[in-house]
Amino acid sequence: MNDCEKYLGLPMVGGRAKTTTFREIQERVTKRVLGWKEKLISKAGREILIKTVAQSIPTYSMSLFRLPKALCDAINLTLANYWWGQKYDKRKIHWVSWQKLCTDKNKGGMGFWDINAFNLAMLAKQAWRLIQGTQSLFYRVYKARYFPNCTFLEAQLGHNPSFVWRSFLIAREVSDLIDEDTRQWDRGKLHTLFTARTQTKILALPLNNFQARDSLIWMENKARTFPVKTAYHVALQLKQQRVVEHSKAWSDKSIWKKIWTLNVPPKVRNFIWRACSDCLPTRANLHKRKVHVEVVCGLCMQERETTGHILWECPLARNVWALAKSKIQKCNNEARDFFLLFGLMVQSLDQRDLECWATVAWSIWNARNTVYFENKQTHPGLF
Ligand SMILES: [Zn+2]
Repeated sequence: MNDCEKYLGLPMVGGRAKTTTFREIQERVTKRVLGWKEKLISKAGREILIKTVAQSIPTYSMSLFRLPKALCDAINLTLANYWWGQKYDKRKIHWVSWQKLCTDKNKGGMGFWDINAFNLAMLAKQAWRLIQGTQSLFYRVYKARYFPNCTFLEAQLGHNPSFVWRSFLIAREVSDLIDEDTRQWDRGKLHTLFTARTQTKILALPLNNFQARDSLIWMENKARTFPVKTAYHVALQLKQQRVVEHSKAWSDKSIWKKIWTLNVPPKVRNFIWRACSDCLPTRANLHKRKVHVEVVCGLCMQERETTGHILWECPLARNVWALAKSKIQKCNNEARDFFLLFGLMVQSLDQRDLECWATVAWSIWNARNTVYFENKQTHPGLF
């Protein structure tokens, strides 16, 4: 691959190089994750490591090849297994889909990178260079070979296209959303491609400050660079609008966002996120996943052990909350759904009380685990 890289950035690679590249990417990711596995770290630590994985993939390959879906899926699976704490071949339940984890934190996800969308954004950068149509050798070579008599936007796949050319045409979808005359998002195209809600989101992505009239460059900041980040979000929208939009997540944006503003240890924030996403391994949840366990709460032996029950309604939890500040006690509703309960707390408590509430909820969960797994009781006064 190095030879190609040196060759003026011109992709002169054939099938074998392509296969090798993909194998290398897969190996790099797997190797990196295996390295992490030796470290015993918290979910909050894993979040940071997972977010660095895109950096281990060579930018060069990402901006030339449309990575095959199977490769992206394999990478996603490797990362998801790591996130849910899988060690070697011991399988773990994936409580939330990887796609959901790749949505923004203020929509209930973890904000992980979607390799597919990232790849599309990197390719769009090359496609943009072809739209821009300058004197670059890159442009001239491609024009001569694939679109001698028209513009890149009108170009067809043609006979015997190279894999790189195919990749560029796929990415054109992203780079083609800008109106050449106004240098703004092409509202007509957005309208035909996206739902109203997605259109609003794309239109909100910055795309102004074009400086030179004759030079079409995507501008996000003062530096005249292509905003891969903006393109990434567009690519993600293109992908996500094909699945049903999660309206609940959208309307609950401020609640999800609140979790990540809490000034508590990362493990507590992470715990609240898991409780709100209903992916704590409570007995009711394990039962739903067909794990053979008792479904009734092991502490009170009365109710199904749901997240709301164990953290709020169970006598153990009630005893703890009874010792909390009066403002928290006043919110003494039942908790059918932990996310709604948290939303109620966001409304009723100020930031500091909310942080205290989150930390107590986390302690209750730990106390529950101590009883279950070590058979030890924690006195409510010790929380
Ligand atoms: Zn109980």
